[in-house]
Amino acid sequence: MKITKIDVFRLKTSDNKTNSPIGCRVFTDEGIFGDGEAGMAYGVGGGAAFEMICALADMVVGMNPLDTEAIWEKMHKNTFWGQNGGPVVFSGIAAIDVALWDIKGKYFKVPCYVLLGGKVRDKLRCYASQLQFGWGKAGEPQLWAVTAEDYASNARLAIAEGYDAIKIDFIDRDEKGNKLRSLDQTGLLPAKLMRLVETRIKAVREAVGPDVDIIMENHSYSDALSAVQLGKLAEKYNIWAYEEPNTPGLKSSEYITQNVAVPIANGERIYTRWQYAPYFEKNLIQLIQPDIGNCGGITEVKKICDMAYAYDVAVQVHVAGSPLATNAALHVEAAIPNFTIHEHHVANRMDTSKGLTKYNLQPENGYFTIPELSGIGNEFLQSAIDDAYMFKTFQ
Ligand code: MG
Repeated sequence: MKITKIDVFRLKTSDNKTNSPIGCRVFTDEGIFGDGEAGMAYGVGGGAAFEMICALADMVVGMNPLDTEAIWEKMHKNTFWGQNGGPVVFSGIAAIDVALWDIKGKYFKVPCYVLLGGKVRDKLRCYASQLQFGWGKAGEPQLWAVTAEDYASNARLAIAEGYDAIKIDFIDRDEKGNKLRSLDQTGLLPAKLMRLVETRIKAVREAVGPDVDIIMENHSYSDALSAVQLGKLAEKYNIWAYEEPNTPGLKSSEYITQNVAVPIANGERIYTRWQYAPYFEKNLIQLIQPDIGNCGGITEVKKICDMAYAYDVAVQVHVAGSPLATNAALHVEAAIPNFTIHEHHVANRMDTSKGLTKYNLQPENGYFTIPELSGIGNEFLQSAIDDAYMFKTFQ
């Protein structure tokens, strides 16, 4: 089998500026195609990921798509400056890699998890994520939390749907609902802000009771100093995991883990085996979150997860993308023993995902069912690709 053509595209959504998926479709001479996605749709720099896929696509046309390891190695080494690089390089590699795994599954007529070692579980526990933005469904208004009661009531919405784990960012807004600047979230935080954050955490803990696992998400807004202050609150309210307390750095992470007794979740901004290795060696992360769309795809993420296993580190495979990326993540999570929980982001319930992919899997009662169709079990809709606002083809 040979790769005959690769289409690269950026799809239109209702919010093209921040959330428009960047992906590719890899075609073969056997009539099978596979889809993959680069995890850089939000934030800035998505255009660079689009161009990265284009550069890689040109390199792999003509190769056998089943040779996922050889193709990954070729893409990585031939980027030259991209070796051990960052999100642009590894999201480009991820898009092609996931498309190749999709082809491989379709070729052997099995879901990808079978090729990754088979299922070690039948369903995947997940948490309702980013409840500060609300927990409405598509078409419903999102009630962004401002008061402590808002945070509590958003948490109640998720619990009512059967979730027993939730995640909230308690420090992204001030008491009026205005976004806090990074200058306000770093350094030693004043008592007034600490009290505001504590009121929110306390209200959520009281609303959900002692048996719900709460993840506190800082989005790397805080630095090591403020992260330790906030970590003390996390200890007080029995927070289950403390996510992205600061911009990852070995020394600052060491300071945080030495001073906070809550398991640390981190890794959305750590991209490779090489970058994860020192965090494992120093035991600085307890719950890794390699992103399926910006850590080099299924090939690299599976290896990072296996490395983590040797250090008793748990996994949540991160998804910064459309429902297509969710499918890819679920296959890896189904096949690894150290999977712990999957993040279900409120954005994956919203209209922005509509009309992009054939399926939009949603959890039920706080659990995802493992996809059973061949390949990753999802694809971009041809109508969405035809309507893409960036498009290039390579053959
Ligand atoms: Mg996060």
